[in-house]
Amino acid sequence: MSKVEPQTDEIPSQDIREEYEQLTEDVRRYRYAYYNEDSPLVSDAEFDRLYRRLEEIEALNPELVANDSPTQEVGGEVSAAFAPVEHLQRMYSLEDVFSLEELQVWISRATASVEKQGRLDELKWLSEVKIDGLAVNLLYRNGELVRAATRGDGHTGEDITHNALTIKEIPRTLEGSDHPAEVEIRGEVFIPSKAFLALNEQMVEAGKAPFANPRNAAAGSLRQKDPALTAQRPLSMFVHGIGAREGLKAASQSETYELLREWGLPTSPYFKVLDSYDEVLKFIEHFGDHRHDLLHEIDGIVIKVDDFGLQRALGHTSRVPRWAVAYKYPPEEVHTKLLDIQVNVGRTGRVTPYGVMEPVKVAGSTVEMATLHNQDVVKAKGVLIGDTVVLRKAGDVIPEIVGPVVALRDGSEREFVMPAACPSCGTPLAPAKEGDVDIRCPNARSCPSQLRERVFHLAGRGAFDIEALGWEAAMALTAGPGPDPATVGGHPAPEGPGVLTNEARIFELAEDAGDATLRDSLAEVKVWREKRSKGAGTGEWELVPYFWSKPTAKTPSKPSANTQKLFREVEKAKSQPLWRVLVALSIRHVGPTASRALATAFGSMDAIRAASEEQLADVDGVGPIIAAALKEWFAVDWHREIVDSWAKAGVRMADEVDESKPRTLEGLTVVVTGSLEHYSRDEAKEAIITRGGKASGSVSKKTDYVVAGENAGSKLDKAEQLGLKILDEEGFVRLLETGEA
Ligand code: NAD
Repeated sequence: MSKVEPQTDEIPSQDIREEYEQLTEDVRRYRYAYYNEDSPLVSDAEFDRLYRRLEEIEALNPELVANDSPTQEVGGEVSAAFAPVEHLQRMYSLEDVFSLEELQVWISRATASVEKQGRLDELKWLSEVKIDGLAVNLLYRNGELVRAATRGDGHTGEDITHNALTIKEIPRTLEGSDHPAEVEIRGEVFIPSKAFLALNEQMVEAGKAPFANPRNAAAGSLRQKDPALTAQRPLSMFVHGIGAREGLKAASQSETYELLREWGLPTSPYFKVLDSYDEVLKFIEHFGDHRHDLLHEIDGIVIKVDDFGLQRALGHTSRVPRWAVAYKYPPEEVHTKLLDIQVNVGRTGRVTPYGVMEPVKVAGSTVEMATLHNQDVVKAKGVLIGDTVVLRKAGDVIPEIVGPVVALRDGSEREFVMPAACPSCGTPLAPAKEGDVDIRCPNARSCPSQLRERVFHLAGRGAFDIEALGWEAAMALTAGPGPDPATVGGHPAPEGPGVLTNEARIFELAEDAGDATLRDSLAEVKVWREKRSKGAGTGEWELVPYFWSKPTAKTPSKPSANTQKLFREVEKAKSQPLWRVLVALSIRHVGPTASRALATAFGSMDAIRAASEEQLADVDGVGPIIAAALKEWFAVDWHREIVDSWAKAGVRMADEVDESKPRTLEGLTVVVTGSLEHYSRDEAKEAIITRGGKASGSVSKKTDYVVAGENAGSKLDKAEQLGLKILDEEGFVRLLETGEA
């Protein structure tokens, strides 16, 4: 949609003409790759940007617009691999808007147009999710499916009848009676999100490249020459429109959906008829929050004028109906350049490759790094250094490199080779045992990278919860000279003596620690910082003290406010419960759940240390793998030294047995979901465990109670499906007290 007024008296400059020609060519090429080859060369976001620019130039320079401009056509040609079929009635695309402001303009315009006809009271907005699949037109004659076709250019599509018949949701014969002699039903063929993950796993296992996204997978699967191949793919369909319809007994889009449902056609569960723009906004917001909880991927919301009479009155352009609009959510998938693959050495020595990319904005944040997990994943994704890659970030989810855009390779790309030596300490890398996928740095005790990660971890929210000790501070505390994987993106690593050479000494930072040597040595720690001017980086870097303030003429350097907070928080951390101390130790496989179970079962660090492997494995929530990891860990001298020096510093190594709490939940499994008013998630878990219950994170048939707080999501849905007992916060409190709901 262009909101630029045409300026016909100006002749377009040569530059504009050239840009216009280039854009037309690019848009055609990208459409071809997308619709005909099912393998896009650019991301949807990039395509949309180019397309909008094309529209903008055309609005400013109408004399440039040729009849075959891409803006006058519905994208997609008919491939020679399929027989062409004429749709009885044209298939249109949708007008896109990319912001709520644009949507409001669109809605006001449509409303004004309806008002002019004096039919405002008939105006209702049918809002539904925009399914990220491909459009298909089903032709039924006297209730029998006679043809299925892709959208193609809107007039002519590709005959995919045999392929469509392999989709179980598409009925061959309509149920009920009173079907029009000829009716065209339009909808979207897609691959459900869960099935997509499984399909990609299968592809990788079979040594094939995975699909970049469910839409491409659906399009590629439906447009197969051999229907037997299509039949193997988990395709599904929802219907959302109607073409030729003579004799149809429905006066609106929503009535039609009702009818289609009665005929046994798959209608979407995600639509609503709404009275006002405010309700439409709420609908958009709701599905924006739950975008990934649906059966399939969506890329926006479609808003349609519900009444057929009004639809007819509003009409069409050559490409889109004037009675519908698609609001697109911000893109979650973009393309960027994979500049390098580097490796990070984690807290248990595991070496993980990660991609370093040209920074790119996606789902509201700028991304320049994404983990690639291990060398098998790098292989499975098929990415080469130098590739243009598809990068996905869904909301708050960690960014993921999906795969390469193979068609854009120019031969300069190179394969990633796992380094033979640790990039942090130079020790040769090796799997812990034969056959392991993961490669590790065996220098656990003094590899700077491992130490830094352990220090960062022990301060984390699930461990000692030392807020002032974040990633940067952990880096500053531990970094010494030498190559360091933290120097990605050209930012130099902090330099310093590496004041903390062993996490056994971490509590020497506590405010009340008698010996101040470690605290004082923080004065020496300096990091590289980019000089800033007027809020922007200058490209110049300087060494500045990290923990102490910069000295000025008037005030000498002293521990900064944040550093003083660090000292206080380290002191406070000494009285954290036992399970948090266990988490802080970075024992392989021992996370919060196992730690809580161990703390409840044994009550003290000494008892855990003294327990046999069998006794450990016997604890519900522990098991043989964790038991073995614990035994292995405690067998190492310097590990025991950590525990001993923490204990000496005053860290609480035993939980007081709370006799006041009766063990009301013995043998019961309780899941808490959503947010409660009086309990944080951790407190709720603790309350369950101290009463002898099992606090589980996932709902299954074995769950006894599900406590559902505010904004409970998919776990609550599942609990309802399984018919489990669901409690609110009040019920939860009663359960804790009495063991009964
Ligand atoms: P569109 O996908 O933005 O919208 C029109 C289509 O939406 C309809 O044809 C219909 O099939 C579908 N749709 C899904 N749910 C629907 C619902 N509930 N009601 C009605 N229709 C629904 O438009 P388009 O013309 O098909 O394709 C353009 C878009 O495709 C671009 O915005 C871009 O995102 C993408 N594209 C990408 C590339 C690329 O190279 N990456 C190339 C071409 C097109």
